[in-house]
Amino acid sequence: MRSTARVVVIGGGVVGASVLYHLTKAGWPDVMLIERDELTCGSTWHAAGGMHTVNGDPNVARLQQYTINLYREIERISGQSCGVHLTGGIMLAGTRERLDWLRMAQARGRYLGMELEMLSVDEAARRFPLLDKRHFVGAMFDPVEGHVDPYGVTHAYAKSAQIAGAEVVRHTRVVDLKQRPDGTWDVITDRGNVHAEHVVNAGGLWAREVGRMVGLELPILAMEHQYLITEEVPQIAGLPEQLHCIDFEGELYLREERDGMLIGTYERAGVPWSPLETPWDFAQSLLPNDLDRIAPSLEVAFEHFPALGEIGVRKVVNGPFTFAPDGNPLIGPIKGLSNFWVACGVMAGFSQGGGVGLALSQWMVNGDPGSDVWAMDVARYGDWATLAYTNAKVRENYSRRFRIRFPNEELPAGRPLRTTPIYDRLRESHAVFGEYCGLEHPLWFAPTEAEAREDVTFRRSNAHAHVAEECRAVQERVGLIETSNYGKIEVVGPGAEAWLSRLMANRVPAVGRIALTPMLNERGKLIGDFTMCRLAADHVLLIGTLAAEAYYMRWFERHLPPSGVRVRACAMEHVGLSVAGPGSRALLQSLVRVDLSNSAFPFLTFRRVDIGMIPALVGRISFTGELGYEIWVSPDYQRALYDLLLTAGAKPFGGRALNAMRIEKGFGNWAREFRPIYGPHEAGLGRFVALEKGEFVGRAAAASEKSKGGELRLVALAVDAADADAIGDEPIWHDGKVVGWVTSGAYGHRVGRSLALGYVPAALAGATAGFEIEIIGERRRAERLAVCAYDPGGSHMRS
Ligand SMILES: Cc1cc2nc3c(=O)[nH]c(=O)nc-3n(C[C@H](O)[C@H](O)[C@H](O)COP(=O)(O)OP(=O)(O)OC[C@H]3O[C@@H](n4cnc5c(N)ncnc54)[C@H](O)[C@@H]3O)c2cc1C
Repeated sequence: MRSTARVVVIGGGVVGASVLYHLTKAGWPDVMLIERDELTCGSTWHAAGGMHTVNGDPNVARLQQYTINLYREIERISGQSCGVHLTGGIMLAGTRERLDWLRMAQARGRYLGMELEMLSVDEAARRFPLLDKRHFVGAMFDPVEGHVDPYGVTHAYAKSAQIAGAEVVRHTRVVDLKQRPDGTWDVITDRGNVHAEHVVNAGGLWAREVGRMVGLELPILAMEHQYLITEEVPQIAGLPEQLHCIDFEGELYLREERDGMLIGTYERAGVPWSPLETPWDFAQSLLPNDLDRIAPSLEVAFEHFPALGEIGVRKVVNGPFTFAPDGNPLIGPIKGLSNFWVACGVMAGFSQGGGVGLALSQWMVNGDPGSDVWAMDVARYGDWATLAYTNAKVRENYSRRFRIRFPNEELPAGRPLRTTPIYDRLRESHAVFGEYCGLEHPLWFAPTEAEAREDVTFRRSNAHAHVAEECRAVQERVGLIETSNYGKIEVVGPGAEAWLSRLMANRVPAVGRIALTPMLNERGKLIGDFTMCRLAADHVLLIGTLAAEAYYMRWFERHLPPSGVRVRACAMEHVGLSVAGPGSRALLQSLVRVDLSNSAFPFLTFRRVDIGMIPALVGRISFTGELGYEIWVSPDYQRALYDLLLTAGAKPFGGRALNAMRIEKGFGNWAREFRPIYGPHEAGLGRFVALEKGEFVGRAAAASEKSKGGELRLVALAVDAADADAIGDEPIWHDGKVVGWVTSGAYGHRVGRSLALGYVPAALAGATAGFEIEIIGERRRAERLAVCAYDPGGSHMRS
């Protein structure tokens, strides 16, 4: 075993082996993998090996496509077979809603280049003869699905890496990790130490324990998972290999295994494994079977696929594998820990392992993952994702693996966890809540307690009329919304202005003023959008996205000078309320002594103001497009402030109305319109990029984007929708071809039109006609709007 290496990857499952291979491929051959037993001995060896491209997040779907295409490459380099069976797959719908869901998945796949095909039940039965047609209403076929040999894949990665110079050390356990003052690591094993510049935690079932070696509590939990393999199925004897099959209503997946069928299920009463600590003596082990637990799913299997009920079971496998609360991997560097990386919580190692290895290696070698990995970034979780929260959410997610998540559906596990002081007040006003980063926030308000629940649907829900009322109140009078669910970061010190000027694309505002700014990476792509509020020469409050707080802080720490600037995340120290609407000035003026007239308190002013007896920070800014004020107070004052504003006549409104109004204004949101795959000019933020102010991160790339015009353009569209609006990720068609995708959509109540925001090629940004948006399988005519749908001159919010 070498005593030094540039990188030590801990863990020889499919993920660690992929990271090792990709590091060598990216040009770092001096890398080493340490495995405490044999390769694959964690969850990898007993996996069913299934692989597929469909994923709820298009960027993860792209990495899944990459993974599947990689197998031929590593087979070629290593000479090791991956046992690839690219059978194709069929997804069966037993209900109309599921068919709608499949149509949406098919539509989404179009702009990813996926050739998904909708099938009638007859055609589905022709291609998958085991099914009983009576239980299904339709199906979707994906040609890029199949299964691999988990042992073969892991060894093919490892051998390919070894050929490029990597070392693979088996039967050696990492027992501790110690960081040196220069940021490098002493990797302490039971067979000696290795000094490494970087460490990667690919510990799979033990990733939590490896995290704990450096004081990290990673939000992952292993669940028991069972599949069985039947005896020979005579009905398929002599036929070509059967397709992979997912039966959503049965919550089952099936594939051929030799001459029998493998049947797996994500049962509703799933059981976590080793919720607190993973035993170190577990290697190439399985758990006792518990067929009773999956009996309800098996009964459905025997009904839906009658031939399977007539034969015996050859083998049952019960093994554990890990999940993050949302089921997506956790990858990336960790805030506060230099040169420590994670690649864990990968629940679909054979669909995602290659993509995870690629993204992480790019990140380590180039300082940037090279693609949009927000959905997998470990920084999407904050302190609220404790062990118990993770336990509740993982169990929920596991039990819903094959259930439909409707776009307006809020899941109940682990709630309420974080609440603000006005939570009870909002409940008394019949708020229907959503959860975001563990925090409850009002989505809309029902007239009575009995009506305060929302039907889950792909179409307009029972909330529609109430949201319309809320928008009307904002447009005509004064609305009041809680805005605590924003991230806040305080930047203080004599070097604050110079530092922010280097990190942000816009100029730092003068004291008492607000500036909107994109934040760019070196490639000139969007990695944040902020409201910079300048309280004093040496004090700026950044307001951004709550879910990205750790993501921002990780970037800030990387760029922090040794002295002169202090940066601190402080979201919940400033809880918020915002008043919006033509009457908001008069309402607030009745409660404050400072002059709020347009000349004394113009648009983009930010000041300390006492509201009644309450000390507050007030910014004149608007996300609704109406005259508005954002008010920030410490939590102990929020209740009094809420009561005061309510008594003064403001009407509560929720996030649904806010979303509709910001879309009417064409205002983008982080993770929807603004992501690291778009440049600021493409995203319509060019006016907030002050190229002339001097050097800042991403300036050269932003200047080049500006001069070349960028490849994409964010556009606003009005859609001839029926009873369903766009929600995001629908394909945009132009002249019969898929040219782009929707990022957000909603019904614009103030303009009486269904609206969408989305990206199209820059060359098409001037076209108005010829567009269509595919909503639940129907192509609906859409018109590109030359200006935003509501108050394009911006006079409402500025005057
Ligand atoms: C029953 C079952 C069926 C499945 N079916 C599928 C499927 O069809 N398709 C699919 O894509 N996925 C499937 N999976 C999931 C798949 O197995 C995982 O996604 C994958 O194995 C995760 O790999 P990993 O490398 O992250 O973790 P692991 O396989 O757990 O590997 C981690 C490795 O790290 C080593 N290690 C940990 N700590 C240390 C240390 N301190 N020192 C040295 N070594 C250490 C361990 O020994 C282990 O070998 C299934 C899982 C199960 C249980």
